[in-house]
Amino acid sequence: MISVENLVFDYPGLRALHGVAFEIGEGSITALVGPNGAGKTTLLRCIAALETPVAGRISVDGVDVQDAPRQCHRRMGYLSDFFGLYNELTVEQCLRHRAAAQDVPPGKHAALVSRAAGRTGLDDRLGQKAGELSRGLRQRLAIAQSILHEPPVVLLDEPASGLDPEARAELSRLFLQLRAEGMTLVVSSHILAELEDYSTHMMILREGRLVEHRRIDGVEGAERRVTVVVRLAEPSDRLPAIVEALPDCEVVSADESGAKIVLPAPALERHRALKHLMDEGLAVAAFEELRPDLQETYLAHLREEPRS
Ligand code: ATP
Repeated sequence: MISVENLVFDYPGLRALHGVAFEIGEGSITALVGPNGAGKTTLLRCIAALETPVAGRISVDGVDVQDAPRQCHRRMGYLSDFFGLYNELTVEQCLRHRAAAQDVPPGKHAALVSRAAGRTGLDDRLGQKAGELSRGLRQRLAIAQSILHEPPVVLLDEPASGLDPEARAELSRLFLQLRAEGMTLVVSSHILAELEDYSTHMMILREGRLVEHRRIDGVEGAERRVTVVVRLAEPSDRLPAIVEALPDCEVVSADESGAKIVLPAPALERHRALKHLMDEGLAVAAFEELRPDLQETYLAHLREEPRS
């Protein structure tokens, strides 16, 4: 859905992107993370056809962003990290204006405005002026504007900034809903814990280079293995030997009160392992899959020496 090849971007006296390349598949949600100044905003602006790179090619939904930027804009929604709103227009007018700007046929404006407002929790604010909204509500309006024309690709630069915890949770749900409807999202944020709730992929930028791009939602390949933490309600010195004897199980650690083991990912395999522990009469209080931790992976990459 998004293809980036050898992308190089320079600001005067500074190379901000050094040959970045990746492919983003349809229906994914990619968390774009990296320290301040890593190049996230620059990358999103290049994909959104708002900057002209020194070298490289970008295509969105099969359209080259340099050759046909307008066509790309029809196919994408973009939320900038800093944005302006028409303060004298009401929420409804802002959304209708966006619909017109995106060349949505007038007959569809009302339905799209109402859907975007409903999705972002602004349905009771349609008559209020944008300039009278709080920071979080302005953020929601900007998000509503960016998804109004229901594009196949949505790029969001720090969408959760300024939102209260409830609105952030709603935003996570909205992203999952948009994905379920087939949209492809790229979301940059510093709030890693929330990105982990909805992202399918993680991309780490560091000093203008892509240092990691991988799936994080754990639905890859039949050979995939998962780490499981076992905790006992009553200690048993038989636990280490029992987990050692589990078929196709790697024991990371085990003592009388718990164990960390690596098992094949299919649910049935995990069920068999749990059943075996129960059949052995162990008082299993917890049998939990450890998700690959986005924050841990991110920090591990930042601890590595940068490439020259
Ligand atoms: P943050 O997390 O702080 O938003 P970022 O990863 O989005 O950072 P960018 O805003 O893309 O990073 O900036 C990448 C690099 O380009 C930084 O070194 C920044 O100082 C520089 N830069 C960004 N905008 C400009 C500009 N308009 N002119 C010159 N340099 C710029």
